[in-house]
Amino acid sequence: MKIIAIETIHLARGVTVHAGPIQWLWVRIHTDEGLTGLGETYPDPVTEKAVVLQRLAPVLLGRDASQIDRLWADMFEAIAYSGWAGAELRAISAIDIALWDLAGKAANKPIYQLLGGASRQSIRTYNTCYDNYSFLTHPVELARSLYESGIRAMKIWPFDPIAKVTRGQYITADQMRQGSEPLRLIKAEFGDSMEVAMEFHGYWNLTCAQQIARALEPLQPLWLEEMLPQDNLAAYRELGQSTRLPLCLSERLMTRWQFRELLENRAARFIMPDICWTGGISEAKKIATAAEMYYLPVCPHNCGGPILHYALAHLAANIPNLYILESVRKHYLEEYIGIVPDTLGAVNGEIPLPPGPGLGVELSPGVFARKDLCVDRME
Ligand SMILES: [Mg+2]
Repeated sequence: MKIIAIETIHLARGVTVHAGPIQWLWVRIHTDEGLTGLGETYPDPVTEKAVVLQRLAPVLLGRDASQIDRLWADMFEAIAYSGWAGAELRAISAIDIALWDLAGKAANKPIYQLLGGASRQSIRTYNTCYDNYSFLTHPVELARSLYESGIRAMKIWPFDPIAKVTRGQYITADQMRQGSEPLRLIKAEFGDSMEVAMEFHGYWNLTCAQQIARALEPLQPLWLEEMLPQDNLAAYRELGQSTRLPLCLSERLMTRWQFRELLENRAARFIMPDICWTGGISEAKKIATAAEMYYLPVCPHNCGGPILHYALAHLAANIPNLYILESVRKHYLEEYIGIVPDTLGAVNGEIPLPPGPGLGVELSPGVFARKDLCVDRME
């Protein structure tokens, strides 16, 4: 199964999340047997597609698409002198997902079967609340709407507006109360029947992170996610040792080697790779297995496009040490509509096992009719 062409596909108009507009890049690999494989990365298609077409296509064209590990290593070597993170690794991630899609289609099986089979019948999910910051204004109503749809865990980031004001360098007693209030209100209403993960997007210094963690301890959030920037994992170890609450890290760590440092620093209790950034399905499977050696659960990051969502459903179906899979109701109920035929939404708090073969999804024909479509190709 020889690779004969590589295409990049994206839309000029992106979607807007809390951090600003993002766009998804899709990569489609064509083979001489007529099969195609689909992958995805984000948030910056223009830089990512340059890497796909100019740096990685020469590595891939004419090669056997079934040799996923060999191709991954050769792509990684090809970018070694220009940095092994950023757009280079995001491009590898998208291609790796497309190679797994091809492998599944060639075997006529869902990807999770090739990874070692299903470890569960459906996938427990929590909702990340990209609903116009309604967790700040109507946290109990938001939690109730999730609860009524069968979802029993949610993620919010009420300290972010405060970090914007103080640049994460100090926090007053009033601000501490204000940041804690949504969690306090949800817990007062739902108690243990709604878990709440707290996200911090790396905005805080160590001192403030310790103060916030101590203030939140009585409210028992599910985890504290990315309180600090990701570059000093010894600082994270110090944070982890100073609080009873578990830390969750991090979509911003790249490849098995950065996760090795995280694991060896005993810095986190929840391991959160993003497969569109950290090196694809191949790398995430290795990271999950490494976490298993430390008896740590995995809760993959899932805030990208619909192909990431499907690829993650395959990984999450397979890995024995899954804790819970992130998903975004706004994505599968709104933003993925028209991009894929079935958005694989949560049913009663669970994501169904994805169909096959391969990923079990293609871009909808409507995507290819859009006026803002950008397609580039190397063969
Ligand atoms: Mg996060």
